[in-house]
This record gives sequence, C-alpha cells and structure tokens, in this order.
Amino acid sequence: MVKKLPRTKKVGPTRGLGTRYGSTVRKRYVKVVTELKKPHRCPQCGFVRVKRESVGVWKCNKCAFTFAGGAYTPITKLGVVAKRAAKGTRVEEAPKAAPIEAPVESPVEISTEEEETE
Ligand SMILES: [Zn+2]
Repeated sequence: MVKKLPRTKKVGPTRGLGTRYGSTVRKRYVKVVTELKKPHRCPQCGFVRVKRESVGVWKCNKCAFTFAGGAYTPITKLGVVAKRAAKGTRVEEAPKAAPIEAPVESPVEISTEEEETE
C-alpha cells in the first residue's frame, strides 16, 4: 500500500485554476472576485446586504431592492457619471484651485495695429 502524503489544499478564488492563465491574470481575477463576493451597501436601506444576482444585477437581501450596477461592483465610476448625465445635471469637477482672477495692476496695452503715418 502506498501511503498518500497529505496535500496542501489551496484556498482562494483561484483554487480551481491551478497554474493556468498566468500569475498576472490570476491576481487580477482575485481582485475582481473578492470585490464581487463581498457584501455591498444597499443604496435603498443602507444595510451591507447587497449581493450580485446576475451580471450587472444587484439585490439587497434585507429589503429585496434590486438594481442595475456594474458587472463586478454595484457602483462604478462610469455608472455615477451616467446617472448624473441621465438626471440632466452637469458633471462638475471638484474645484482644484481657486478661480483665476489675477488682479491686473499694470495693464499692458498691446498695440497690434501699426500706426500708419501718411
Ligand atoms: Zn436594502
């Protein structure tokens, strides 16, 4: 009889993939799947009970609120922009700097027109 050595059981989302598809892709896959699997906050009731029903369909287990979202996350950056655009409000960027209103102390007159002397 051959005694089998105890194999180390791998855990994580990529356990079914083995050594395939390359480490970079697997790492990216882990990032996406962990984000997908973790419970998300419900926009309706505020409870962290939202799970993905299907691709882009999210459902809250607390209040049964179903809504459309991203494929892997309930809210995407692009979705927020699209929602704002659908509302009709302008997408306003956060003010990065103070409005440029430099006081003009010495107005320099630039004469582009050449004086014609006849
Ligand atoms: Zn809810």
